[in-house]
Amino acid sequence: DVQSLGESGNGSKVEKGGDASAGRAESRVQVVDEHQNFTPKLSRYLDKWGLLDKGFAYDVVAVFGSQSTGKSTLLNRLFGTSFDVMDETKRQQTTKGIWLCPSTYSSTLVMDVEGTDGRERGEDQDFERKSALFSLASTEVLIVNLWEHQIGLYQGANMGLLKTVFEVNLSLFGGSAEQHAEGLSSSSHEKTMLLFVIRDHVGATPLKNLMETLTQDMEKIWSSLSKPDHLVSARLSDYFDLSFSALPHKILLPDKFEEAVVNLRKRFTDRSRPDYVFKPVYHKRIPADGVAFYMEGIWQKVLTNKDLDLPTQQELLAQFRCDEIAAMVLEAFQDASKGVRRPVESGSVLDGLGGMMNDWRTTALAKFDKDASRYHQAVYTRKRLDLLKAIDNALAPLFMGQLKNVHKRCVATFRTELVDGLKGEGYDFGKVVKEIARRVEKDFIERAEETQLKDTDWQFDDELALLRDDLKLIADQCRVDETKKMVNAIERSLRKQLAEPVEIGLAKPNAEMWDNLLRVFRAMLDKSEEVYLAKAKSRDCPLFGRNSKANPGSPLGFNCTEEENTASMSNLRRRAWHHFRAKVGEQLSDPAILAKLKNSFEDVFRYDAAGVPRVWSPGDDIDSVFRHAKDETLALIPLYAKIKPKDPSNAFTLPSDASVDASLDPDADFDFPSTLIIFSETKKLDLENRFKRDADAYYVEAKRSVVSSVAQ
Ligand code: GDP
Ligand code: MG
Repeated sequence: DVQSLGESGNGSKVEKGGDASAGRAESRVQVVDEHQNFTPKLSRYLDKWGLLDKGFAYDVVAVFGSQSTGKSTLLNRLFGTSFDVMDETKRQQTTKGIWLCPSTYSSTLVMDVEGTDGRERGEDQDFERKSALFSLASTEVLIVNLWEHQIGLYQGANMGLLKTVFEVNLSLFGGSAEQHAEGLSSSSHEKTMLLFVIRDHVGATPLKNLMETLTQDMEKIWSSLSKPDHLVSARLSDYFDLSFSALPHKILLPDKFEEAVVNLRKRFTDRSRPDYVFKPVYHKRIPADGVAFYMEGIWQKVLTNKDLDLPTQQELLAQFRCDEIAAMVLEAFQDASKGVRRPVESGSVLDGLGGMMNDWRTTALAKFDKDASRYHQAVYTRKRLDLLKAIDNALAPLFMGQLKNVHKRCVATFRTELVDGLKGEGYDFGKVVKEIARRVEKDFIERAEETQLKDTDWQFDDELALLRDDLKLIADQCRVDETKKMVNAIERSLRKQLAEPVEIGLAKPNAEMWDNLLRVFRAMLDKSEEVYLAKAKSRDCPLFGRNSKANPGSPLGFNCTEEENTASMSNLRRRAWHHFRAKVGEQLSDPAILAKLKNSFEDVFRYDAAGVPRVWSPGDDIDSVFRHAKDETLALIPLYAKIKPKDPSNAFTLPSDASVDASLDPDADFDFPSTLIIFSETKKLDLENRFKRDADAYYVEAKRSVVSSVAQ
């Protein structure tokens, strides 16, 4: 009596399993429930089972067969799973749906389908078809479970089931007519193993005979399928490998059953066996971390009765997963790089920024490659490019920011070091500038190169050019200041040197007086100009000059321009002249010129030719001596009145036009010829009159001295 045997045998087994029922509930998931809803928890379960990171290193097996043929019992024995088994005492149906549970013996997902067998219960075959589609889309091995006595009953329920499996398989893996025409589908379709497990094998009919019968039945079913045009010549073996196994009666021969199950298990776990079932060709190539999304997508398609072809599904899966992985990778990347954004924005120059950026980038790509490269290659490659672009777009502002900050720092360094370098005396302006600029520029280039990521189109040529422009501006300004300083120094010394010769020259008036003075002035000016030019040459520093090998063709330089030199020299000349003229003016001021006239008059009138003071006696011709002395002295006034050399080649002139740079020359609108005039016509008359009064006084005094000497 099977019934009672079942109670004692199988019933105890269920109870044994029931001890661990709490743990069992955790260890399986109802992927599709009785209301045909897909679980949102699949990914979480896969993670918990340690399968999420397996990549392709996992397998999927599913079972098909009529109701209550011991499917769940078999799976539990074979894989150590915990699927519900019909309670023998109540003969109750187990819950309808699709269940997943991990094998305890290997990284294998085991799929149990409950309630497929609608025809036996008088239900429609809708769920049967749906679950067949669903399991074929991911399964490598489909166990077809059947009683020995069902074999050969071609009209039997399970034969209808297999017909459904074949039809569904064609729609999944058969490819489209177009693909077929292009020769794409023939090699790209995936194969599945059908493993027939014959239950309650009594042994009267050898397995070999059962296999033959089953194979023939399969071929019959296959040929009876109405296939689409492009698949008329397709063979069963193009899509399925058939394999067989028989198990003794579980309840009547429990030990034999157990022994056979352990043997059968080896086919699922021992890779070295020739009959190992999980051959790579059967793998549906869904990375483990994509399984949940993929299965859900398949189930949605199944539900909505949309066309379901796997290549499209896999591409969709790849897009979704690659996006998901990229988003995760990007988030980690943003987290890692977040810390440097603020400092870069606020102007800091970060050491080793390039190295850090490179690390973040390589890490992100490596993470992406690890998870995403398993998916559809074209999609993966495309998404990788997108990710790289996103990363580089996020990093580029850091690069530009760093360049900006380095630029600022270089300019500041250049400025302070220039100030330091130009302290004290005796430096060579050109050398100092050149040296500092070279150092600063080297620093900039090193920083920029460190921050520049390889295999990007990032450049810093423009920024380097900008830096050079700025350095040049600073150096130019500095040189202008230097030039001013230098011109001032030269001018000061010229002024000092001029004082004495002018005093002496004007004290001894004669016809060549101006010739001599102008020659002296010219000689001193020439010398000053020489000094200026010598110094200007030292400031002449073609930093990024035309001859520099490092920067060929760079037009930048710190050398003084011809124009600048011309302006400075003209300024120097003008100021020198100004000082000369001022000194002359000072020496010929009213009291000074009157004293000079008086001296000159006295020299003739009060001393004789031998320099002996005259003592007038009554016979002396005072009048003619007086006239002589007066005329000679009066002749000096026009001589002093205008700077006019006897020999015109000694003349000094300055252009009085406005071509001189006004910034270098404070009195740009001066009129040179007017500076040659010392006394105007009225001034001359005034001086004459004042002198005549003095002279007349001497005359009267001389006359009186004669009268008094006679009277004594
Ligand atoms: P399923 O509906 O195909 O999953 O079948 P179950 O695993 O729930 O088992 C249905 C019934 O068959 C249970 O009462 C089991 O005790 C019984 N059963 C399980 N394995 C065997 C077997 O090898 N031979 C026989 N005769 N009965 C079995
Ligand atoms: Mg079951």
